[in-house]
Amino acid sequence: MAQTPQPTLFSTPSQDGHFEEGALVAVLTTQPLGRALDYKAPEGGVWEGAFVEVPLGPRKVFGVVWGPGAGDYDYAKIRSVSRVLDAAPMREEMRLFLTRAADYTLTPMPAMLRLGMRAPGLGDPPSMRHVYRLGETEPGRMTDARARVLQVLRDYGGLAFTLGELADSAGVTSSVVKGLVKLGSVHEVETPRDLPFAPLDPDLPSKDLSADQAAGVAALCVGIKGGHYGTTLLKGVTGSGKTEVYLEAVAECLRAGRQALVLLPEIALTSEFLTRVEARFGARPAEWHSGITMTERRRTWRMIAEGDAQLVVGARSALFLPYRDLGLIVVDEEHDTSYKQEDGVLYNARDMAVLRASLNDAQVVLASATPSLESWSNAQAGKYQRLELTSRFGAAVLPDMRAIDMRNETLASGHWISPSLKSAVDARLAAGEQALLFINRRGYAPITLCRACGQQVGCDHCDARMVEHRFLKRLMCHQCGETKPMPEACPSCGAVGRLSAVGPGVERLAEEAAELFPNARLAVLSSDLFGSARAMKEQIEAIAAGGADLIIGTQLVAKGHNFPLLTLVGVIDADLGLQGSDLRAAERTFQLMRQVAGRAGRAEKPGSAMLQTYQPEHPVIRAILGGDEEAFWEAEAAERMAAGVPPYGRMAGIVLSSPNIQEVFDVATDMARNCAPLRAIGAELYGPAPAPIARIRGRHRVRLLVKAQKGAPVQRALAEWVAQFKLPSTLRLAIDIDPQSFY
Ligand code: ADP
Ligand code: ZN
Repeated sequence: MAQTPQPTLFSTPSQDGHFEEGALVAVLTTQPLGRALDYKAPEGGVWEGAFVEVPLGPRKVFGVVWGPGAGDYDYAKIRSVSRVLDAAPMREEMRLFLTRAADYTLTPMPAMLRLGMRAPGLGDPPSMRHVYRLGETEPGRMTDARARVLQVLRDYGGLAFTLGELADSAGVTSSVVKGLVKLGSVHEVETPRDLPFAPLDPDLPSKDLSADQAAGVAALCVGIKGGHYGTTLLKGVTGSGKTEVYLEAVAECLRAGRQALVLLPEIALTSEFLTRVEARFGARPAEWHSGITMTERRRTWRMIAEGDAQLVVGARSALFLPYRDLGLIVVDEEHDTSYKQEDGVLYNARDMAVLRASLNDAQVVLASATPSLESWSNAQAGKYQRLELTSRFGAAVLPDMRAIDMRNETLASGHWISPSLKSAVDARLAAGEQALLFINRRGYAPITLCRACGQQVGCDHCDARMVEHRFLKRLMCHQCGETKPMPEACPSCGAVGRLSAVGPGVERLAEEAAELFPNARLAVLSSDLFGSARAMKEQIEAIAAGGADLIIGTQLVAKGHNFPLLTLVGVIDADLGLQGSDLRAAERTFQLMRQVAGRAGRAEKPGSAMLQTYQPEHPVIRAILGGDEEAFWEAEAAERMAAGVPPYGRMAGIVLSSPNIQEVFDVATDMARNCAPLRAIGAELYGPAPAPIARIRGRHRVRLLVKAQKGAPVQRALAEWVAQFKLPSTLRLAIDIDPQSFY
């Protein structure tokens, strides 16, 4: 077959990154194809990075012009780009970021690109809508309603009001506005649908900073003014004023004309935070998380690309937005485990923030009261700058912490609140203050046991127990989310009425609290008890305002919410996190306990925290109580260093899963036997072993664990190793670089 000559000359973009019509371009799509495909540039040419629509077989798909075409295919058969989409081209540093993130996490590029193309309506034509502005002529007859409309436009003329918004703001019907349009007193204007965000003013007055805070701000501003990459660990107990410090860093970034991103671990936190941003900068920032509408998402994505959103507050996926010029990324509560995406593309937003910033000449601020050992050790090693706020802002002092030795307490069966804790709560309630009882377990009881046959009720699809949720009147699997009604009879032996709840969950604790403190107004805070983020936010605000006397909560309450009236925190089971073999068990318990205790005494009244424990002499419990954080981190670092585990060694978890248990073990055994590429870099391979949760959603799971020295080229070796095997189509393989959990 005769080959058409390849016009390779055309395929190099001009200096400014433009390809002429007919030039070969490589288009990367989100289809799992393994490589970018060649297309011809359409009429008018196309820019490198442009979002385009291309034919793929009988379909049309979206993609990005990744660079010059490879030119290894018959030119005559190559199809043209169907159209160039109406969106700013993906910037070079963004393409580089996706590539590097894919290399690091061993994620195929199409899956990585999907994270960078989460823009609803990306293919839509630019659409227009009507907005209303002040006209020149006064209406002949002025009414109250008309005057209000004109006043709103005079006061907020910079904002683009839609008909509904204007009518609502003025408290009139839309016919009043339309009447004014006819008279020429109000103009109706066509504008693009996606409007820029209101500008933020970094020069509005800031709070008077303490000396500590001012020094921190000054240090951060050096990096921002310098316009180069750098990471800073901003450490300080809850309430020490870290947020105020990084907001001033945001201000400096805005003054430099660059964009800033603040990552928060949980949606519930954003409302309190948005209010603070508005108070500081005079307008609300853009938001990016699961709670925003598609229309808002589309607008936000586009405005970020155009540079018309100066500040974004969001969840981890906000890292993949198309910033025009990102100058600062703040990762608040940087130790939070929710920054690790555990599904699909396995990435740690904290680490990706550092990567992204390094490619953008941007600064990173990692803020936490209890940093991850990773960040702590990077600061020790001098890779990160370290700033510390040592005291709580204003009068607030850290709570006094002590243990309740459960070996000396008498508890009736099915009860978990010790007499010592009860009298402490009684005293707070009598003084008109708030108390919090913390237990890190959702639902009513972790185990449902049959008293006749001794069997526990398990999930049909997973190797996990079903947890009773009495509030929902159902049993729920916390692995797969499967629920079923609470059975009358035991699923194993059929005995009726013999199922009983074993152990405490937050709902059961609430029941006990209602019995012990009959006059207290109770509030239960657990993520599964709220239909929506908004409902949760409202309840949290109500509690903060004094709407409850006693709060019963799970991990949800540990995260940054402000409860000014709260003066006592009781931890029901401080030992819970210490069980299990997770390498981060001590670190996590330490962080969680300190965070929870930090909820008490945030305002003027001193707080205290009491930890119920059966092992008060355990080193972690002693470190929590002693408050010598550096000593805890140093001891923990020494232990990990000796074991050669993260952050002083590298790890990768490999999970193989299949509906067929024989198949999954066979493949895993084969992989373990043939691991020359891993041996070549001195890595050790452990397993195969059944994963701690050996079955999820009907798939059997087997784990392999790779351990290597820090600095070893783990990703390259893993890729080479995995490529040797032809995997059956029923089998799934997931590689988790730097695993955070081992399930
Ligand atoms: P963190 O982020 O460390 O938990 P915040 O920045 O939220 O601490 O500060 C705790 C409280 O103290 C907040 O209510 C904040 O508004 C207040 N605060 C912090 N710094 C100042 C300051 N310099 N002037 C006035 N109030 C401040
Ligand atoms: Zn399940």
